[in-house]
Amino acid sequence: MSKTTAVKGFSTRAIHFGYNPADHQGALVPPIYTSATFAFPDAAYGARCFTGEEAGYFYTRIANPTLALLEGRLASLEQGAGAVVFGSGMGAITATLWSMLEPGDEVLADMTLYGCTYAFLTHGLSRFGVTVRHVDMTDAANVAQAMGEKTRVVYFESPANPNMRLVDIEAVSRVAHQGGAQVVVDNTYCTPYLQQPLLLGADVSVHSMTKYLGGHGDLTAGAAIFADAQLAQRVRLFGLKDMTGAVMSAQDAHLVMRGLKTLTLRMDRHCQSAQKVAELLQRHPATKMVHFPGLPTFAQHALAKRQMRQFGGMIAFELQGGLAAGICFMDALQLVTRAVSLGDAESLAQHPASMTHSTYTPEERAAHGISDGLVRLSIGLEDIEDILADIAQALDQAHAPGHSRPAVAAAERCRELA
Ligand SMILES: *Cc1c(COP(=O)(O)O)cnc(C)c1O
Repeated sequence: MSKTTAVKGFSTRAIHFGYNPADHQGALVPPIYTSATFAFPDAAYGARCFTGEEAGYFYTRIANPTLALLEGRLASLEQGAGAVVFGSGMGAITATLWSMLEPGDEVLADMTLYGCTYAFLTHGLSRFGVTVRHVDMTDAANVAQAMGEKTRVVYFESPANPNMRLVDIEAVSRVAHQGGAQVVVDNTYCTPYLQQPLLLGADVSVHSMTKYLGGHGDLTAGAAIFADAQLAQRVRLFGLKDMTGAVMSAQDAHLVMRGLKTLTLRMDRHCQSAQKVAELLQRHPATKMVHFPGLPTFAQHALAKRQMRQFGGMIAFELQGGLAAGICFMDALQLVTRAVSLGDAESLAQHPASMTHSTYTPEERAAHGISDGLVRLSIGLEDIEDILADIAQALDQAHAPGHSRPAVAAAERCRELA
């Protein structure tokens, strides 16, 4: 391989892959093709586009040059054979599953899932004759045991939203394939930089690019990256084109590509700061349990070291005082913003029981490992000293009784809530 064609490093590909300014009047930044439709040179060309014989662009819901550039970059970063982008993460997840499943098929899903994914499976797909069963995938043996005749898709997140449980991607992919199923991994928490599910044996990696890949909280977007180019094509021509129509806008694709340029820098900083926050949480008497893959006390720390490049920017923890303490902690925050979503420059805190996972019943939450006192943090890019100071003061208030007037007031409020 010559020097110019050798595969470049991750950051280099995130910035340059698939684009040469010389092909675009020297424009350093790729142009944004806002056109919904594309002119045919003659009628026969149009006909060939519709039958798929011609790969030309004809309508943006199916393909668009700006989206195609982003798709090529994502496939390169995660070493897939193809990628399809969508208007949201849920667009990616639903279009992919609609394309892979038929009535009578079964999905085996992990116990803990992003709330809307859980809702799509249990309240959506199941209405159309697809059976959904949940198993605890932290042990691949559970998956081996649960695999049935009709199991077509094994679906999980690692780390899982919101409680940070990991799944051994390599081990679960092996048993899924032995049973004739394909594996779909939600890789949103890690991004292609921290974890590469396809290299570990998974068939599809899905992302909410609303989170770290966009990275600035100013768009919604999704992606699915495929080991098999034919499946990518099926998802594009059926799941995206006909079943969901969840097309991404070219402007948003441009913003995601801008985000990708700093992905490795941002992720390094998110990971570094999250490690320090996790250590603070672990030392503080207000906390009962800290779930962060980078802590040596984390039950799956060895697996995290094996399948993740670094430990990510997300932390979940449980307060001693349960629901009331959780609410006190949330209300005491001054810098860290109370908001759902994650992966932004701003540090964010959310309380799954009352926010993202309110689609679960309390019994379902308990069964799926989400306690009512669980708080989830997305550690942002602010100065670490400021993040630590804000979280420390909020923990003091949630822990309560005693040392300061506001703490006493907070403790009283906690008791009222309890
Ligand atoms: C946010 C999120 C989704 C859904 O993505 P949207 O872009 O909000 O549609 C799916 N999975 C995980 C893990 C997420 O965090």
